[in-house]
This record gives sequence, C-alpha cells and structure tokens, in this order.
Amino acid sequence: MAKRDYYEVLGVPKGASQEEIKKAYRKLAIANHPDKNPGDKAAEERFKEATEAYEVLSDEKKRQTYDQFGFAGIDGMNGGAHDYSNVYRDFGDIFGGGFSDIFESFFGGGGGRSAGRSQAGPESGASLRYDVEIDFAEAVFGTKVEISYAHQVACDSCGGTGARAGSGKKICPTCNGTGQIRRNSGFFAIASTCPTCNGTGSVIDNPCSECHGTGVKRKQQKIKVTIPAGVDNGSRVVLSGMGDAGANGGPAGDLYVYVNVRRHKFFVRDGQDLYCQIPISITQAVLGADIEVPTIDGQKVKVAIPSGVQNGKMLRLRGRGVPRLRGPLDQRGDMYIKLQVDIPKRLNTKAKQLMRELAEALGENNAPEPVAFEE
Ligand SMILES: [Zn+2]
Ligand SMILES: [Zn+2]
Repeated sequence: MAKRDYYEVLGVPKGASQEEIKKAYRKLAIANHPDKNPGDKAAEERFKEATEAYEVLSDEKKRQTYDQFGFAGIDGMNGGAHDYSNVYRDFGDIFGGGFSDIFESFFGGGGGRSAGRSQAGPESGASLRYDVEIDFAEAVFGTKVEISYAHQVACDSCGGTGARAGSGKKICPTCNGTGQIRRNSGFFAIASTCPTCNGTGSVIDNPCSECHGTGVKRKQQKIKVTIPAGVDNGSRVVLSGMGDAGANGGPAGDLYVYVNVRRHKFFVRDGQDLYCQIPISITQAVLGADIEVPTIDGQKVKVAIPSGVQNGKMLRLRGRGVPRLRGPLDQRGDMYIKLQVDIPKRLNTKAKQLMRELAEALGENNAPEPVAFEE
C-alpha cells in the first residue's frame, strides 16, 4: 500500500511549525487512540500512521531528511526501522491519566485559554517552494540548476529594524508594549491584538524609507542548486535559510526545490533499475546475435542474444542503472532489456520463398495443442 505523505497525514502545510505539528498530532492521537476505539482497525491504523508521521516531523533532523529525500531518505536512516523511543517515553504519561491535562503538559499546550499578556516574539520566515524540471539522465547522474526566485530579505538600509538610521523603536503607547489590548465584556476580559503595533509591542518613530518600516525587502536572487545523483520525480532538495527572512530576530524559512523529471525517449525507471525495449529480427532471435544497445551513460554496449530466444525475454546489464541517492556513484542499479521479436509484415519475393522452404524444413503443425497462460 502506498504510504501517505507525512504532512498530509497530520493535515499540516509543509512549512508547519513544531507547534502546529504537535497540535495536529495531539488531535489525531486523541481521536484515534486504540483505547477509545476498541476493535476499530481503521482507527488503529490512523493512530499508527499519525504517530509515525509525528515521530519523523517532530525531529528536525529526520524532518529535513524527509523533506529532502522523502520516504527513501527516512528508510535509509536506520535500515527503515523507526525509533519511537522518544514518543513512547511520553506516551506512558499521556495515556496513563486524563487525556487533555497530560497532553497539554507534554505538548506545552493550553493554547489560548489564558488571556494573559504575550509579547510578540521571534517569528520564523515563510518557507518557499520552487519547481524545477530536469532531464531523465540529469536525475540519474545529478546536475546543477540555476534558479531565479524572489524572497524577503532583511532590509540592508536599516539592518532589518525598520527604523531609519539614528532613530529607533519605542514602546507602543496604545498597549504599553504588551502587544494586546483588553476590553471588559460582562464577566470576561477579552484580549485582542493591538491595532497600533500589530502585536509587536513597539512602534517605529521614523520608518526606514527603503522598506517603509517593515524591515524586509523583496529580493530577486539567482542561485545554483545542486541536484544529487539518483533523485527521482517528486524529490525535494531543501536549502535551509533560503526562504523568507524571519521577523523580530526569528530564523529565515527554507527554500524547497521540487524536482520534476522529464520522461526519457525509451528508458523507464523503477527505483534504481532502468528498463527499455529492444526490437530484434526473427533471424536474430532464432540464430542468436551480438547486438549493440545504448545505455543511459550515452555509451553503446555489446549484448549477446542467445540463439532460440523467446519474445519478451529480459536480459540484464549489471550496474548500468541509477545510483542510490547519496550513495556511492559506482554502485548503480541494473539495466533491463526486454527483447521484442519483430515479425515482418511484408516480405519480398525471395524472403517469402525462403520462408516457405523454412516451413517445409521445420514441418508445420496445423493442429497445435493449446497451452495454459503463464502466471
Ligand atoms: Zn501596541
Ligand atoms: Zn529598511
């Protein structure tokens, strides 16, 4: 069964923060926990699926590997074995007692229940996506692609502060620096984001003219992206910190380069192996022959066709396939050739005559016994 994308499983966007990932997982884990759904196989599967996704996405290192190389990258990390120790350690606590309380203490939740003051802290910049298209052979051997993309960078005139040189920020007079204003409504105090400072708690006296006080500028940038050998259609290459600049000293987002691989004229790929079809004549099939076939390297190699070969026979050329992603370049998959015996549709007089003689020499059976289909 095809595995679902981890982000899809948790229902979060690719650039989701750890906070969002935790929230999404908590929700799914509570809804689908086996204790709450006894005997429900589908719920158990969803629970396992979500836990696996959380196990990978909650670990920055694993997440980065997954973002870049997909399931293949994760499977390559521990021989495919998932290490749930960190998740399980916390599970005892989580499911031992009441759901919500313990979940919240583990996940640092409680989100939004208290209407206390919250200073606008560092905010990560947005991650960006860029799609590139490369040739089939470039995916096999790796390549460099130049891309031009626009992203938000810290304004160089004001150093990202948004304030004109010589001036600074001052505490927002509307909210006294809390970033929130509170209104009393009956029994409740309702907190909302301060409209003067947009929740940052500070305002700029004299905004930078370059960035109009935002501290960021849009920049069109050309960069070279290295696409490693062995990437497949849909692989991602992540350039960390190359997304939008963060706010209030937060880290920049990442740039995800999605790789689309063009189809090849005749090769198709299955993992590390390549497949192609080679037509041969009936006489080559009957008598055997040495033929030359092209490889993805752009070379030609000799292949010996054994005499009496049947239509559809597969021949293997070792080491002429695709290298493993991030593996040694000389360890490649195999290339398979499917032989297609070409039955001539038109024969000249001489060939027709020889065919008749051949039929006579072989002796034709005009009442052949049916045979079973091959499995
Ligand atoms: Zn304010
Ligand atoms: Zn500026």
